[in-house]
Amino acid sequence: MKTIIVWYRNDLRVHDHPALATAANDADQVIPVFILNDDLLSGEHASSNRNRFLLESLADLKQSLQDLGSDLIIRRGEAVSEMRKLALETDADAVYYTADFTPYAIKRDKTLKAKLAIEFRAFPGRLAVSSLDKLLTKAGNPHKVFTHFWKNWQQIGRRALAGVPAKLTIPTNVRTDDLPSVESLTNKAELSPNALPGGESAGRQRLNNWLKAGISEYHQGNNDMAADATSRLSSYLHFGCLSAREIETMLPDNTGAAAWHRQLAWREFYHYIIFKFPSNATQEFQERYRELNWGSDPKLLQAWQDGRTGYPVVDAAMRQLRDEGWMHNRARLIVGSFLTKDLWLDWRLGERYFMQMLIDGDQANNNGNWQWIASVGVDPAPVFRRLYNPTTQQLNYDPTGGYVRRYVKELANVPEKYLSQPWTMPESLQQEVGCVIGSDYPAPIVDHKQARLEALEHYRSAI
Ligand code: FAD
Repeated sequence: MKTIIVWYRNDLRVHDHPALATAANDADQVIPVFILNDDLLSGEHASSNRNRFLLESLADLKQSLQDLGSDLIIRRGEAVSEMRKLALETDADAVYYTADFTPYAIKRDKTLKAKLAIEFRAFPGRLAVSSLDKLLTKAGNPHKVFTHFWKNWQQIGRRALAGVPAKLTIPTNVRTDDLPSVESLTNKAELSPNALPGGESAGRQRLNNWLKAGISEYHQGNNDMAADATSRLSSYLHFGCLSAREIETMLPDNTGAAAWHRQLAWREFYHYIIFKFPSNATQEFQERYRELNWGSDPKLLQAWQDGRTGYPVVDAAMRQLRDEGWMHNRARLIVGSFLTKDLWLDWRLGERYFMQMLIDGDQANNNGNWQWIASVGVDPAPVFRRLYNPTTQQLNYDPTGGYVRRYVKELANVPEKYLSQPWTMPESLQQEVGCVIGSDYPAPIVDHKQARLEALEHYRSAI
């Protein structure tokens, strides 16, 4: 009688799950398990929004596995010791799992492998490509420029999809903990009221809608913040409720889908980068910028987090993050540029706050993007190209103010003409529209023109 444990982590689905499908084939009994690790649920990178989404995803996965005649075993504790206990209790022959690429996951899996006397086998499934090892430049070095990576990534072979097992058999006597309540794993004050629900079922529904309507226009609307014309699938991808590989096989053949596929490659690029350069997790990829003298003024940071900087598009974006646990990509770029280059705050402060709030908060993607917008990472470009003027960005990407007005209620009645620079409204108009600058809505906390010059000087003097 062969028994295999399938260790679920960031792969919370039954569709296209190579570890699950192979275990169903190889074993008489399969034990799907998820270990709730308190260090992750309440540690440095913990997030109430993500904990809630996780619990919803686990409940959905449990139901799907029960529908297949199985169950999801829940254990609470430190991953390595819980896994060892489970393997001993059930006399399991092997542990199958989906490979992950972050420094934490790699270290944990290595430790477990060393401590388990049974087979411990990794499967693809986190990304569309099966292996990151083959992606190299012609000279045999790791890619550091996205467009080169992307070309290579498109050409690399893909695995066949893994089918959903027709039936799974689980031993009858495996102990499972209950799923904890959302209340016990979250801080109510940090929960975004308008977050998307977690789970493979919700993810597949959103994906199907996106493929039917939305994706074909993606290349035209993806920077229009008010139109909200992106997929919002990032959280489902982060938790593995959806498989990037399966999605690839479902894409229609049109310009919008091609542009969207390219975005999926960015996700894989950053997983690749943190895998190849794990020290990026804490330090700048570019050595010359490791000594930049970043500031940490708590008042400026608080104003940014609260969406009270006086720059409408920045404030709308930061309020969207609180409200939905998600932010439009264009908005992430604007607030990232603003935090680092206008406020001269350490990019790691922004990275940390995003990890606290974003449901799709993902070490690889978040770190990679923060380094990108702070101009300290891979895929380099001159600093000024990623130093955005918030006013111009608003005029370009929210020209009629739909996005700003949706999230910054104080500005609801400000005429379009003044919406990107409300501090220029004549005082009488401020009174008339109920938006007095300095009392109803903040005056700008920095002068962009001045901050821009200072930031450029910081970078220049670092070299
Ligand atoms: P769509 O536009 O529909 O794109 C489809 C998918 O492609 C996304 O779901 C995502 O998986 C991937 N993708 C798109 N753009 C990027 C990108 N720039 N980098 C990596 N993958 C991308 N994304 C995260 O998933 N987690 C994060 O923690 C994260 N932090 C970010 C921090 C900053 C400062 C910035 C500028 C971007 C960050 N992003 C992050 C990338 C991007 O903003 C989100 O993936 C995207 O907004 C998610 O919305 P969507 O699903 O509608 O994306």
